[in-house]
Amino acid sequence: MVIYIHIPFCIRKCYYCDFLSGPSDKETIDKYVKALINEIEYHGGKYGRKGVNNSVASIFFGGGTPSILEGIYIEEIMNKLKDSFEIEENAEITIECNPGTANEEKLKKYKEIGINRISIGLQSANDEELKSIGRIHTYDDFLEVYSKAREVGFDNINIDLMSALPNQTLDSYKNTLCKVIGLGPEHISAYSLILEEGTCLYETIENLEREGKSTGLPDEDTERNMYYETKRILEENGYYRYEISNYAKKGYECRHNVAYWKREDYIGVGIGAASCMDGVRMKNISDIQEYIHIEEKPNSCEEEAETEVLTKEDKMAEFMFLGLRMVEGVSVKKFEEEFCEDFNTIYGSITKKHIRDGLLVQNGENIRLTDLGMDVSNMVMSSYILC
Ligand code: SF4
Repeated sequence: MVIYIHIPFCIRKCYYCDFLSGPSDKETIDKYVKALINEIEYHGGKYGRKGVNNSVASIFFGGGTPSILEGIYIEEIMNKLKDSFEIEENAEITIECNPGTANEEKLKKYKEIGINRISIGLQSANDEELKSIGRIHTYDDFLEVYSKAREVGFDNINIDLMSALPNQTLDSYKNTLCKVIGLGPEHISAYSLILEEGTCLYETIENLEREGKSTGLPDEDTERNMYYETKRILEENGYYRYEISNYAKKGYECRHNVAYWKREDYIGVGIGAASCMDGVRMKNISDIQEYIHIEEKPNSCEEEAETEVLTKEDKMAEFMFLGLRMVEGVSVKKFEEEFCEDFNTIYGSITKKHIRDGLLVQNGENIRLTDLGMDVSNMVMSSYILC
């Protein structure tokens, strides 16, 4: 089982961001942390030490910007997690840090309370590009956090990067990749910018298009080349791709994300966070003030969450579309063992079609995406939901 803790606070909203996050005041932060602690206790009573006692293989503080919180808050949350759950000795415990919000004192605190993985949102090593997407930091701010994290003793660091940014060229993107590789992080996540409706960047781009002006976004060919160069450059430098957008040195794959893709049980704590335990999926309310009221009504978390019992069809589809995200793919044998169904009867025809089209490859019991399949992974994966 893995646990996700959602910290929905940010200094200000990045222009492209549609996550459940934003600026807040001290009073709300204080109450929110208390509500998180209350929710952890609630889950602990069901699935932790006071319940069925599932052990925890990974904890992930994500957001938002978890590093915006004073270290003492993270310590209080960790203490409650340790009290409520049996955390495996070698559990992966990650916190997302944004340059401009983390400092030496916070990093030391993280280390002291057992956090062993830092994920830093850099996005680009070019200050103009950072500005164009509304990031609050410069490349130098990032370098400071990165070197402090190393000094403090973190030996497992992820760096998040983005391609297809406004006014980003293939050369400037490659320059970012090379600078980051030069630092030697253990893990690199590299995503393409997605323009989400309702974000500030989406509106800006729409307005520019309406006025017939250049949006500055790279054209489709450049975007594709950025994607291909990511794989080529990272693999040449010792980072292997284990998921569509994730690269790691051997042994440093993000265990938390792998747990999601392998459909292990997970608990999400905080606003909008999803959990899936024993085939029941729950999603917390998204309104922060409503969520905070949980603090005053202990044991009401379940009533407040949207609940959905997954059918066998849902689970089979999840097995395919989550499993295929990983470069290692899915095991037909595992599918048949878990669902007591013949794989070919359920997914034979769609799988054969993808193999004929060169999008999937089958080696014995294993089916995985080809490089071509990775390029159109959304289409391949969604075909397993629809059939
Ligand atoms: S720091 Fe992350 S969560 Fe916060 S606004 Fe920017 S992209 Fe969104």
